[in-house]
Amino acid sequence: MGKIQFKTESKRLLDLMINSVYTNREIFLRELISNASDAMDKLYYRSLTDQNVGMTKEDFAIEISIDKENRTLTISDTGCGMTKEELENNLGTIAKSGSRAFKEENEEVEDIEIIGQFGVGFYSAFMVSKGVTVSSKAYGSAEAFQWESEGVDGYTITDCSKDRVGTDVILKLKDNAGEDNYDEFLDEYRIKGIVKKYSDYIRYPIKMDMERRRLIEGSDNEYEDYIETEVLNTMVPIWRRNKNELTDEDYNNFYKDKFFDFEDPLRVIHSSIEGRATYNALLFIPAKTPYNYYSKEYEKGLQLYSNGVLIMDKCAELLPDHFSFVRGLVDSQDLSLNISREMLQHDRQLKLIARNLEKKIKSELLEMLDKQREKYEEFFKNFGLQLKFAVYNTFGAAQDMLKDLLMFYSSSEKKLVTIAEYISRMQEEQKYIYYACGESVARIDRLPQTELVKDKGFEILYLTEDVDEFALKVLQKYDEKEFKSVSSGDLGLESEEEKKSSEKQAEDYKEMFSFMQESLTGKVKGVRLSQRLKSHPVCLTSEGELSLEMEKVLNSLPTDKPVKADRVLEVNADHPIFAVVCQLYKEDKDKLKTYTDILYTQALLIEGIAIDDPVSFSNAVCNLMADKA
Ligand code: ADP
Repeated sequence: MGKIQFKTESKRLLDLMINSVYTNREIFLRELISNASDAMDKLYYRSLTDQNVGMTKEDFAIEISIDKENRTLTISDTGCGMTKEELENNLGTIAKSGSRAFKEENEEVEDIEIIGQFGVGFYSAFMVSKGVTVSSKAYGSAEAFQWESEGVDGYTITDCSKDRVGTDVILKLKDNAGEDNYDEFLDEYRIKGIVKKYSDYIRYPIKMDMERRRLIEGSDNEYEDYIETEVLNTMVPIWRRNKNELTDEDYNNFYKDKFFDFEDPLRVIHSSIEGRATYNALLFIPAKTPYNYYSKEYEKGLQLYSNGVLIMDKCAELLPDHFSFVRGLVDSQDLSLNISREMLQHDRQLKLIARNLEKKIKSELLEMLDKQREKYEEFFKNFGLQLKFAVYNTFGAAQDMLKDLLMFYSSSEKKLVTIAEYISRMQEEQKYIYYACGESVARIDRLPQTELVKDKGFEILYLTEDVDEFALKVLQKYDEKEFKSVSSGDLGLESEEEKKSSEKQAEDYKEMFSFMQESLTGKVKGVRLSQRLKSHPVCLTSEGELSLEMEKVLNSLPTDKPVKADRVLEVNADHPIFAVVCQLYKEDKDKLKTYTDILYTQALLIEGIAIDDPVSFSNAVCNLMADKA
């Protein structure tokens, strides 16, 4: 059989690997060992429930052997093996997980530094090899096949003989060239060091023959060489090890290797619980939002192990939606191996674990907020949207769990603050927790509606995300303090006396305002004297439940029925334009109509709402400038 070409994307990746100048090329071994371990997981799990497999725990092992003369390094496993088709599909094309995610995320980036840290899998073997041979016998198959490749030229698949089920990966190491020395990978102690560094927690023994020297018995200066097989790894899975024995690096390496991230996690949560539910959990909060996190493709869930055996890769039942960003695993002895997805949903033990984990994650986040403020802010920038969305989406069911974790930008602190922090700064006469909505902090900062509240010295929370106001509407209150939009009807800032006098003032201009309102028929529900403006002439507010921001958000969603907030045009009696308006009402009602229109359009612009007819607005303003209006 002739050479088969690699698929284009595989060729590119392969090319990168072969020409790699990456100094950390030792990670190829981690990748091959992880593949071997995964393959053994598959068969081992099966052997526990299917007598026909005929293998015991002792039969599962990885063997590494070194042939210095022929410059080969072989990694053998007793895993599930691969059929001819699987060899073709898995090694001839970029296969699954690691490699594919790499491709999706790095379409344009050809940065070798990234490759090294990323789980790129099998192809990394080409960083150190000039040729790779994979001999494999699949479980349940009588034949064995051999895949061979020397790089981008392609690969061949031929029959071969192999006694036991499993896979041998044979690397023909590259020749040394100047500084580039590959001999290190023929050194037992170097290999042992690499295994210890990256693969110590692999649950199957990784065995290697070590050359040793000993004193010949009965002699006092004669030595003999002998070979001893050594198990290189500790084998106890990292999550079952004592926390005191583990370093940050252990956790970080494990996380990056297992969960295909190239950054260290922001936080590690390791807990061992005994009681009504007994389990070990090792959870990670990623440092960056996964590229598909806020999309339908993202699948939440934790790996589920039963007594050290992986039974499910993404167990969604273990994580509530609001903490869907958490990655990690749970290992419990209380779960049945034969557990099916349907049974899982009803498993009481699992529900108990999930509830515990939820509480644990919350308390860890609160601790981070308390002790590692900057880290928490980083976390919130990545995943805060999810928390706020969950408050809204569960109609409040999750609010007690989440409200203390929320943060918003503060007008006075100029940074993200929690609601509790806001309340701690509230002034004695302050009734409400004020907030203002807009596209950006800079934009909200300039909103006329915020003027008076700020002038009183009250802090305002700036809501810049679509979901923010919806979330606060669901919360309604925090510690008995109500949330209040700076654009809402009554801001609660006036004393009884002030209220009376403004009511009287409103009465005085009643007719003029109803004239203005009529000239804006269909556009506003009312025209009013403003109690919140100080230096700006006009602003737009809304009456009722639906705010202008909510209107914008809802109308940006795919819907056939646009919603409309009840708009109110507020006019500032202290602004010089107000005197002009009053005068026009007496002397030139037609001109007042034009002025009203312009004022309304300005209010729309300030609010960031698109105007219907920019051309006539521009004309009207120009006419005024040319003094023709
Ligand atoms: P990944 O491990 O990220 O899925 P790889 O490129 O490392 O990607 O491997 C591709 C696929 O080849 C694996 O998903 C697995 O199905 C198969 N494979 C690799 N090594 C082995 C092995 N030792 N035994 C059985 N299957 C293997």
